Amino acid sequence: MDRCRRSGITILQQTLLDSIASLHALDLRELGAEARGAMRSGTIILCYHRVGEGEDPFHLVVSPENFAAHLDEINRHCEPSTLEDRDLPSRRPRAVVTFDDGYVDNLTEAVPIAEAKGVPITVYVTSGMLGDKQGFWWDRLGTLLRNRPPAAREIRIDSAGGSQRVELGASSLGEDLTAVRRHLLPLPVAEIHRVLDGVAEEWGTSAEPPPDARTLTPSEFGELARSSVVTIGAHTTDHVRLRDRPPAEQGQTILDSKDELERLSGRALSHFAYPFGGLDSFDDATVDAVRRSGFDTACTTIAANARATSDPHRLPRRLVMNWSRLRFRVSLERWKLVTRH
Ligand SMILES: [Zn+2]
Repeated sequence: MDRCRRSGITILQQTLLDSIASLHALDLRELGAEARGAMRSGTIILCYHRVGEGEDPFHLVVSPENFAAHLDEINRHCEPSTLEDRDLPSRRPRAVVTFDDGYVDNLTEAVPIAEAKGVPITVYVTSGMLGDKQGFWWDRLGTLLRNRPPAAREIRIDSAGGSQRVELGASSLGEDLTAVRRHLLPLPVAEIHRVLDGVAEEWGTSAEPPPDARTLTPSEFGELARSSVVTIGAHTTDHVRLRDRPPAEQGQTILDSKDELERLSGRALSHFAYPFGGLDSFDDATVDAVRRSGFDTACTTIAANARATSDPHRLPRRLVMNWSRLRFRVSLERWKLVTRH
């Protein structure tokens, strides 16, 4: 009850949840077998990024309290699983927890909670960002736009492909971020940082990421890899949007991240996640390169449940944000009700 009060579940909300739950139960009874129901809904692969108290403009930082509540809900309503086990028969739908990018809070915040709850997690690490001082470019962009002088109404993006101007001052910071991000995404990562450096200089302001947006150091990565609940996956060396790079360059950053993380962890890596992960972020050449590099699976951010028939190198995932227990539970129930058409 304490838990309910803390997450603010009212009697009305609880009734709604119970109705959803009994709908699901009815669906299973009609099937005649709980296990068949679980097989029909497939496996829910969840995509997290960070756990912490800070805020980020993309709402990807989940508070420790909410993350613990999410894992409780997974334990209660799903079968917590690894990617290896994702297609094994189960009485309840399987749920796989994954993290992208390699932020330090995956070790300091997420791992202790996952260990306490007994939920395995897979962490996709951007190998070239281990020990990096500069930060991910989207965190730098967030700082930059928050510090935008009122008179600065546009951002100029000079790159090898030409010069572009993006208007600023939309109704929210999020809209400005989305607009600028769209123009930066196709560029090589070093070029994106150069653009941000130039804007910071022009505006006379900082483009330092928030201190809590730090990535793992190599020794912290070693500690992460040693946790009994953690499986390490690769996420390229530099988090470039792969589809925009020539095939040889794609193959290099994919394979180099695998080699480096295997060297540092002393373990073989079998899993990969495409940076950004949407349909516009990788192509057939990318998938070929991932397969050739020896990865058994690769995750996208295409929103669906994974099935035994899913291409293991194009596994869908469900993006999770800083949701309350109730919001997460409602999503989980909805995803569990998704069945093959
Ligand atoms: Zn990523």
